[in-house]
Amino acid sequence: MIRADRVVTGIRELATLSVGPVPRIGPAMGELGLLPDAAIGVRAGRIAWVGPERALSRSVALRPGGPRIDLEGSCVVPGFVDPHTHLLFAGDRHDEVAAKLSGASYAEIASGGGGLYATVRATRRASEAELLGSAADRLSRMARWGTTTAEVKTGYALTRAGERRLLGLIPRLERRTGLRLVATYLAAHAVPPELRGRADAYLDGLVAELPAIARAGRARFCDIFCEPGFFTLEQSDRLLRAARSAGLGLKIHADEFVASGGAELAARLGARSADHLSAAPRSAFPALAAAGVTAVLLPVTPFSAMSDLRSPGRELVEAGVPVAVGTDLSPNSWVEGMPLALAHAVYRGHLTPAEAITAGTVNAAHALDLGGVAGQIAPGRDADLSAFKVRHAVEIPYRVGALPVAVYRRGRALFST
Ligand code: ZN
Repeated sequence: MIRADRVVTGIRELATLSVGPVPRIGPAMGELGLLPDAAIGVRAGRIAWVGPERALSRSVALRPGGPRIDLEGSCVVPGFVDPHTHLLFAGDRHDEVAAKLSGASYAEIASGGGGLYATVRATRRASEAELLGSAADRLSRMARWGTTTAEVKTGYALTRAGERRLLGLIPRLERRTGLRLVATYLAAHAVPPELRGRADAYLDGLVAELPAIARAGRARFCDIFCEPGFFTLEQSDRLLRAARSAGLGLKIHADEFVASGGAELAARLGARSADHLSAAPRSAFPALAAAGVTAVLLPVTPFSAMSDLRSPGRELVEAGVPVAVGTDLSPNSWVEGMPLALAHAVYRGHLTPAEAITAGTVNAAHALDLGGVAGQIAPGRDADLSAFKVRHAVEIPYRVGALPVAVYRRGRALFST
């Protein structure tokens, strides 16, 4: 008998994502490890047992008084892992929609001192309490949509001290919200306004800063915005090599607007992920596959930009690249719900609904170095679960913006109806 301190029953269909290698590539991306009429035993926040509900009573000894959570015929998937967010910011940019409607691009809006720079001004002015409060609100709504793990990037301070201040808020947010957070140092989000035209001088400072950032254990990854008007390929190469030497994992905002060599650079450096890729040349995909770089697709962002670009999900799967999907939550593209991103990955990125679930769970966990920890429902993993009132798990990305009925992190409800 396996001891448990709580059990979860009434699961119509459980998508365990526990079958096959991590990350999933090619046809394995569609394999959800489905188990009908399932139950789960949880001990100390971790999954102790998974199996058919009819085998529960002879397999699991529930401690006296331990809760039985009845999900009443819901379908359960692993808590979503959002592998790419910019959720730590102040203010909003609703006024930018008019500029977008008149045809202005992200880079054009930023070059006029607006866009990202408007958020930088607001973030620099904001108190720690304001930043923590607004980010915690976003995280609690993300949990309401089924997310239990999220990456959080810095990048709206654009000073060395300000970026360290943002990094310092991330563990506090984790304690406040109960979600698992992974910090990414994105001081190279843009060139600071006061250093315009002096990107290399700014990068000199960041390169010098990286060993201390890594030693302090505050960031797991380093990221850079490699795009014309922001940082060049050479600058991205330089910062990411220094980050790798310092012991940080590598991420890159690659080929979001134009093909600028970011995907190829990610492959050459063996980055953990190359993110966006909506303008990446198809010729770069075999190199991503060979290097095992995860493609993190952010399919809501071109939608919010009113752009005709699309996430090349189908093409990446067919090239054998592991594909993950995230929200890219930011004041430029304000989307908090992973089910919305997964629906876009299906309808614009042409993933199948099953592939989209893989992309938002096990492969997204891999993109954060959390493969084997998050994104799967299997013994030993944290009991992070999202329950939806649908007939089959694959309906979650098919319905645009499906809402869970309950979300659990380490077996405890972050949210429940
Ligand atoms: Zn981003």
